[in-house]
Parts: sequence; structure tokens; C-alpha cells
Amino acid sequence: MKMTFKRIADLGDLTGKTAVVRVDLNVPMAEGSVADDTRLKAVKPTVDAVISAEGRVILLAHYGRPKGQVVPEMSLKPIVPALARVLGRDVGFYGLDEPKGNEAVIVIENTRFHAGEEANDPTLAAAFAGLGDVYINDAFSAAHRAHASTEGVAKLLPCAAGETMGAELQALENALGAPVKPVAAVVGGAKVSSKLAVLENLVEKVDHLIIGGGMANTFLFAQGYDVGASLCEKDLRDTALVILENAKTHGCAVHLPTDVVVAKEFKAHAENRAVGLTEVDADDMILDAGPETVKALVSVLESAKTLVWNGPMGAFEMEPFDMATVALAQAAARLTDEGKLLTVAGGGDTVAALAHAGAKDSFTHISTAGGAFLEWMEGRELPGVAALG
Ligand code: AMP
Repeated sequence: MKMTFKRIADLGDLTGKTAVVRVDLNVPMAEGSVADDTRLKAVKPTVDAVISAEGRVILLAHYGRPKGQVVPEMSLKPIVPALARVLGRDVGFYGLDEPKGNEAVIVIENTRFHAGEEANDPTLAAAFAGLGDVYINDAFSAAHRAHASTEGVAKLLPCAAGETMGAELQALENALGAPVKPVAAVVGGAKVSSKLAVLENLVEKVDHLIIGGGMANTFLFAQGYDVGASLCEKDLRDTALVILENAKTHGCAVHLPTDVVVAKEFKAHAENRAVGLTEVDADDMILDAGPETVKALVSVLESAKTLVWNGPMGAFEMEPFDMATVALAQAAARLTDEGKLLTVAGGGDTVAALAHAGAKDSFTHISTAGGAFLEWMEGRELPGVAALG
């Protein structure tokens, strides 16, 4: 991923200028109010930076998927009071075409109420650009989309990455762009098919690739093991073998489970046993990596300097099949606390899994971006980042 992007300080004197800032206000709501203000807190550093440089801020953001229609339930309006509280300032709220007040911070209604947003329509991009003098993108989670408010507008104004997005890009660069070696990656989760491009990219970049979760079953099957009734994409047998071959060519050690935890039922506290790879019965489901595997993987983490993580090592929502995920997450957290490992993780389920393990706060960087984080792990250039170059 290209890392040549400008920062707010590169935009010159902002005195009396208005910065159009793309942010992520896609917060979870419960009964009309904000249930988790993590994303609102992430907006504050850039707003503070512009205001302390004597500038004004106009915030652009989407909410949900209104698909170019005005959907009142997807208005950004109910979020404004919570944002004002987090920012400690008055925040105005206006439609794109409405006359604006003179508040130092203004939120514009949901960008996706306009069909031109997702179509990256130049007229809409020009309307966004007309709101201010400079453009700042602070929404990494939307950077994989070439939309009017993430890509089109960036071409029309002097532009920069915001504080939160800049920090996120730097953390990602430290993890895969120019990392301290050896680099280990954990890729887990349900299916190989949803993370093929991730695996293909990582075998070329990392020293150790740890494959866990349901997707490990497909690799074990490809290697000739009987995985019984486990989740397994048998049609991806050849693809899995090519990935293993490419790993060999690039000097990447792939770590698959050497023992597994199996159960006959897919439910919490189902009767289970840890077995070797040749002892999986026809009606067994592999739901977690086994203790021997975990021990070996902790040593892999101990030998690494950098770790990238996406996806759980097993069916972690159901105890005790969270064992491998929790043990590895806690080992990564300990090594981070000891200053021995730089740890970057992302993707929806991964954040939940690390929180479940009590490891979240120790990680060097946790990305709350889902799609954008995965596309970054695939080694793809993100249009919203490329436009800032
Ligand atoms: P993903 O969204 O691809 O990261 O997949 C996450 C999901 O994979 C979680 O809901 C896990 O419960 C599930 N998962 C992980 N390992 C297994 C497994 N061995 N069998 C079935 N589901 C699994």
C-alpha cells in the first residue's frame, strides 16, 4: 500500500479556512442513542487539530446503507448530541444544500442519501469540495471504497490524512509495509473462500503464517487428513495446495494444527476431546486447535517481532472452543506488554475475540475497520488512501 500521503501539518496555514473532513460516524445505536462512542472519540484529534490551527470543520460521513435514498431512520441527526459531548463543542447539523450556520464544527447529513456518493459522481464530489478549502480523510474504514466523499472530493482540494487515519496507516505500515522481522500472521475464521486473497498475499510477505479456525480444516483435508463432519471447503483442495506451495517458494512457514478439539455437536459445552489429526471420527467436528498446537504456536509468537491477526482460531463464541483463540491472544498481549512484539489486529470478529480474551487493550493497534482492514491484508491499494498521495 502506498504510504506517501500528506498530514494536516502539510496543508499550510489553516487560519480562517474550512476543512472538509470525512469521518466514520457509523456508531451502533440503541433506542435512538449512541451505544458505543469509540468512533466518535476517534474524530476528536483531527477536529482539535484544525480548530487549534484557527480553522473550521465540516464533517462528512455515511450511516448505514440507504442506497442513495433519504431514509429518515439513517439520519446522522441523533448522533450529533453525542458527538458534541465527546468533542466538548457545539456542533451544527445541516443538509448538504441548506444554508449553514457559523458553528466551528458542522455535520452534514448522511452522504449516502445521495445516489452520487457510491457512484463517485463528480457533481456530488464538487458539491462536497465547495463546502471548504481543504479536504482531510479520517475514515480508514471507508477508504476501500472509491466514493464521492472518500475519493472524488480528494482530487478537487488540497488533501491530507487526518490524525486517526494517519495513525492507523502508520500502524499498518509497521505491521506489513516495513515491519521488523520475523513477521507472523494469524489468519483464522470460518472459510478459506472469504480470505483467499489474504492468504495469497501473506505467504509472500510474512515469515510465519498460522492458519486456524474452520479454514484450517480445508488445508488439513488437502493434506489428506479425514476431517469428519467439520466445516470444510472440499472444492478448495487444489487452491489450498497451491497456497502451501507458494508459501514454500517464498520461505514462509505455514503452521497448521497438529492436534484438534472435536465434538459431535456444534454448541457450547458440547462433550469434546483433544485428538491427533488421524483420530477424527466421521461424525466429529473440529471446533478448535488442540493444546499441543497452542504450545507450539506460542513459541512461534515468542520467536516473532511483529504479528498481524485476523480471525479466530476456533468457534470462540462457544466455550470451551475459545481455548486456542484465548491462549494465543493472551500470549500476544503478554509479549506486547513486555515490549517484545508489535501486534496489529483487525476485522469485526477478531476485535470481539480479543476483547473476549481480555487481550484487546494490550495490542499495539486494533483496527475497527472490517472491509478496509481485510483489503489491506490482501495487499490492495485502497482508493481513499491512494487519493491522498
Ligand atoms: P470469519 O468471519 O471468517 O472471521 O469467521 C469467524 C467465525 O468462524 C466465528 O463465528 C467462529 O465461530 C467461526 N469458526 C471458527 N472456527 C470454526 C470451526 N472450526 N468450525 C466452525 N466455525 C468456526
